[in-house]
Amino acid sequence: CNTRICSWYNREITMTTASAEKRFTPIIILLLVAALVAVIALWATDKAGKQAVSSHHSEGAATSDEYFEWKLVTTWPKNFPGLGSAAENLARMVDEMSNGRLKIRVYGGGEIVPALGVFDAVSQGVADAGHGAAYYWKGKVPSSVFFTAVPFGLNAQETFGWLHYGGGLELWEEAYAPYNLIPMGGGSTGVQMGGWFNKEINSIEDLQGLKMRIPGLAGEVFTEAGGTSVTLPGSELYTSLQTGVIDALEWVGPYNDRIFGFHQVAQYYYYPGWHEPGSVLEFIVNKESMAALPEDLQAIVRYAARASSQDMLDEYTGRNNESLRELIEEHGVELRRFPDDVLKALWQGTRVALDKLVASDPMAAKVYASYSEFYKGVRNYHHISEQAYINLRDVVLEEEDF
Ligand code: CA
Repeated sequence: CNTRICSWYNREITMTTASAEKRFTPIIILLLVAALVAVIALWATDKAGKQAVSSHHSEGAATSDEYFEWKLVTTWPKNFPGLGSAAENLARMVDEMSNGRLKIRVYGGGEIVPALGVFDAVSQGVADAGHGAAYYWKGKVPSSVFFTAVPFGLNAQETFGWLHYGGGLELWEEAYAPYNLIPMGGGSTGVQMGGWFNKEINSIEDLQGLKMRIPGLAGEVFTEAGGTSVTLPGSELYTSLQTGVIDALEWVGPYNDRIFGFHQVAQYYYYPGWHEPGSVLEFIVNKESMAALPEDLQAIVRYAARASSQDMLDEYTGRNNESLRELIEEHGVELRRFPDDVLKALWQGTRVALDKLVASDPMAAKVYASYSEFYKGVRNYHHISEQAYINLRDVVLEEEDF
């Protein structure tokens, strides 16, 4: 540019900048104020958050470098597939998630306490944690049957729905609080099998005088129906049936029953598992053992319990059918369905047993009220969802493969 044009140009630029500054000054001030307000707000939120967390942590540290070791006792034989895998999985998951800060050593039934001594051992702090089934303790905690299985009750999916989204877990915690125990779901078998018999069950009369290993509320129903029920740990079942101490037994389903070899001592394998439509297992933790952990390890224990619990159901779902095929095709087991009349009679017995249970124990009445309310709702919805879908598969596919 030549001198004149340049001076004009520079003047224009200077004038433009000056008037722009004048116009934009209020906006810049506004922006600065807004930024300052945002910074103050963020700082205040952060401070409030930290205060909330620190008051939440007042009872124990959020984390620590300390190492912990727990004893976990189970009602199952050591390294037992299926039922026993939940405790082993929990120990492994906790070890991995905590980078080895919490080691859980798993003991099988009878190693340091008897199989059915798990509840007392954890309650008294002989062990830090346990794995078993709540209904084993119905003599002490009558309401416990609802947390494992009730004849003709909720299936596995529904029981977890009740526990985690229907108030069930809070009631379980309330029921176990007097025993210094924190309960958590510890897996599920899904619908079990009706059991092993050496004679056919064609009518309710065939149950008369029959001595069967069948625990929980179902045991009472079975007794109501004219049989005799006993509760025995898994390790004693084979020999008891073989030697005639019992005439029949139920354990879990094909995946676990085949490993125990019940097909060697019984001929008929009955379904469906009316008595255990989706048994949920339990992890129990001694309250002081839990409180001694920093908060992050407590959270790890809870999340590992939830994850290993789901894993058990997945394992049964994945493995039951192959074991059933093997039992029938390779071991000549005869599969039988309970006649409807027998099942209807067993339901009548269940009604009587439930009424007795509810009348005998206020906590059982409280849990039953929650359970039956949830049952009504979930049955209503599953009627048009899960149940309708399973039925539809048979209608559409008939005998065809997918
Ligand atoms: Ca069972």
